[in-house]
Formats: sequence, structure tokens, C-alpha cells
Amino acid sequence: MTVQRVIIVGSGPAGLGVAALLNQTNIDYVVLEKKDIGCSFLEWPENMEMITPSFPSNAFGQMDLNAICESTSPAFSFNKEHLTGPEYAEYLAGVTDHFKINVRPNTEVKQVTKQEGGWILLTSQGLFFCKYLVWAAGEFQNPQINNIVGAEYCLHSSQIKYPQRIKGKDFVVVGGYESGIQMAFDLVRFGKEVTLINPFEIDDRNTSDPSRVLSPYTYKKYYEIESSELYTEILGEVVRVTKQEERYQLHLKEETIIETENIPICATGFSLVTKPVQDFVTYRDDGNPLLDEATDEFWGYENIYLAGPSVRHDNHIFCFIYKFRQRFGIIVENILSKEGCDEEDLAALVSRWKRSGLYLSDLSCCGDECVC
Ligand SMILES: Cc1cc2nc3c(=O)[nH]c(=O)nc-3n(C[C@H](O)[C@H](O)[C@H](O)COP(=O)(O)OP(=O)(O)OC[C@H]3O[C@@H](n4cnc5c(N)ncnc54)[C@H](O)[C@@H]3O)c2cc1C
Repeated sequence: MTVQRVIIVGSGPAGLGVAALLNQTNIDYVVLEKKDIGCSFLEWPENMEMITPSFPSNAFGQMDLNAICESTSPAFSFNKEHLTGPEYAEYLAGVTDHFKINVRPNTEVKQVTKQEGGWILLTSQGLFFCKYLVWAAGEFQNPQINNIVGAEYCLHSSQIKYPQRIKGKDFVVVGGYESGIQMAFDLVRFGKEVTLINPFEIDDRNTSDPSRVLSPYTYKKYYEIESSELYTEILGEVVRVTKQEERYQLHLKEETIIETENIPICATGFSLVTKPVQDFVTYRDDGNPLLDEATDEFWGYENIYLAGPSVRHDNHIFCFIYKFRQRFGIIVENILSKEGCDEEDLAALVSRWKRSGLYLSDLSCCGDECVC
């Protein structure tokens, strides 16, 4: 059995970001990754790009929005604002290499059990034991369509790697957030007719929180397709999909039925990969894990933490890298204080992480007021 003080599961931006902070301490850790570094990004559909712009703002005290640790910037590395998935995976691999982050690829965690003094992980490479476990397995590998009856007749948008190769003339896209609009944009661009179904108006800007409204980058694409003859938008909620005589029927809550001859594409989002840790997850009403607000530990358990886009506290959504990286310092501070780290040393680290935007403890300051 391999024993480590801290085990982080997942080498995406969340897992590597927490590891980069642990690297600044003398606590031993390993990141276990089931495939390769940043592999979710390697699997992105070909035309997808980061929607959050990167900018080398580090020199004036603000980290690049897509950076996961200090002194790095995807914009600087690639001379680009919007990286593709493979480019961002290369940035993550570069950070791992440069800071010598301890990652063990091809090690899938299959089951986690609680043991006296820590956690036992059954993996594809044998047993591991740790006192502290950071769950950073992400969402991309868990596409979500399960709130639609007949989901087996649909395809999730993340499964379409090359939209230009998809055969057929007219398509129905369910969901009008970032991936739905991106998919509609790509299909229209390649000459397909698209009917997009969304429960509320896409241009409904009653909040400025980018976790709830489209990013400016995607709005630009939306405005382009909105005026196209190939694009139709329907307000409604799909509750059931059926297939009869080689045609698909999408049943809306309001009892309207939309028919299409091509498989419906659901851009209905993702949810946290939880299978190996499901015994330790309590869920909020919105389906995300309930966490201790002070530490990001799973509710009711100590020394098992969540990092990444599923972190929620009240109505605060940490779904983007520049949001969830603010909680990396919270997790590492909690581990260091339990390990008896010298208080002055810890205060110095926390103050540095705060300056960099890697530590946010006071959530009362997170409003989304933006009146102009
Ligand atoms: C098209 C698209 C565009 C996006 N654009 C942006 C953007 O512009 N800005 C932004 O902030 N966010 C963006 N996002 C969201 C962003 O990609 C995610 O928030 C981010 O990847 C989450 O990081 P993560 O480390 O939690 O998860 P991931 O990047 O998914 O990493 C999780 C890792 O865990 C590994 N893993 C999973 N299960 C196991 C296991 N059992 N054992 C071992 N390893 C395991 C996976 O292989 C993976 O490498 C975008 C997402 C999509 C799909």
C-alpha cells in the first residue's frame, strides 16, 4: 500500500491548483489521475475554446483568469485569449512540469473507504492510504441528461467531437447555455438547420453572474446565429423524448411536440463525478454536494475536501476556474493547521494566496451587482 499525507484525485485545473499550493509546503502529496494530465480538455469537441478570456495581467497584480497558480498565464504561453482544449491541457502539463507537481497518471480511483485515521483508495494501480483526501474529479466526464425521460434517444453535446462531420440536415438542440449555443453556432456554420429549445429567454440578463448568463464570447456567436434563417428558437422545457418510425419526438412540458429526423442533441450540462466517494456525499437541493462553508470538507466528514466547479455555498456558484481557484487556499490552510504548521508561516502563506486570488473566506463580499 502506498501511503501519502494528502491524495488529490484528478489532474485538471482544480487538482493541480491545490497541488501547486501544497508544493509550497513540506507536506507530502500525490495527484492520482486516471488517464493523462488535463485529459478532460483533450476530449473537448474540436471547435470548443475557453470562453473566459486569458490575459497576461500578472504584472499588475491580477492573475490571468484561466491560470491555476501564481506566475503562470495561458495567454502568455500561447499568445491567445481563448485557448482550445488541447492548448489548455498543454498549459496544465507545462505547469506540472515546471513546478514539479507530483502526478501519477493512469491511476484510476475506483473506490474510497473510510478507515481509522484516514482514507483507503482502491485504484487501478493498487491500494493507497492518506490522511487527507481532495476530490477534484471534475464534471466533464459525467454528462447530464437524466432529467429527460427517454434520454437514451439523445446524444449529449460533449459526445460530438467534430460537429462538421455530423450527417443530416436539421437538428434539435436542447439547452441554450454555453455549450448549446456553441453547438447551434457550429451546426448553422456548417449549413444545418437548428431548432434550439430552452426553458427561458437566452437574452434574459436579470443577473450579471457569468454562472447564470452567457459569456460575452458566446453572446457574440448567439447574435450571429439569431439572425440566420437556419436558426429557430423555442421557449419550452423538454420532459420526454420518444422515437417512432425513425423520427424523434420531443415532448415539451406545455404539451407541444417537436419532431426531428436526426438524433436530438442535449446540451444539458454536467455534474460532479462522485461514484467512488458517493457514500460521503450529502446533496443540496440543486444536486450539488453540501460542503462545510469554512473548509470545503464534505458535509458531516472531516479531511475529505471538494475542489472544482461543483463547489457551492448558499447561492454562490464557483463553476469557473477564476472562481473555484479562490477556494484552493481554504483547503490547504485547513490541512496545514491540522498538521500543526507554525501560525506565522501559515499567516504569511494565506496573505500571499489572498493577494493572488487563491484564497477567499468571506463570501459575504460576493454579490453580482453590475448595473451598467
Ligand atoms: C467547452 C467548455 C468550455 C469551457 N470553458 C471554460 C472557461 O472558459 N473558463 C472556465 O473557467 N471554465 C470553462 N469550462 C469549465 C472547465 O473546463 C471546468 O470547470 C474545469 O475543467 C474543471 O476542472 P476540474 O479540475 O474540476 O475538472 P477536470 O478538468 O474534468 O479534471 C478532472 C480530472 O479528474 C480525473 N478523474 C476523474 N475521475 C477520476 C478517478 N476516479 N480517478 C482518477 N482520476 C479521475 C479526470 O480524468 C480529469 O483529468 C469549460 C468547459 C467546457 C466543456
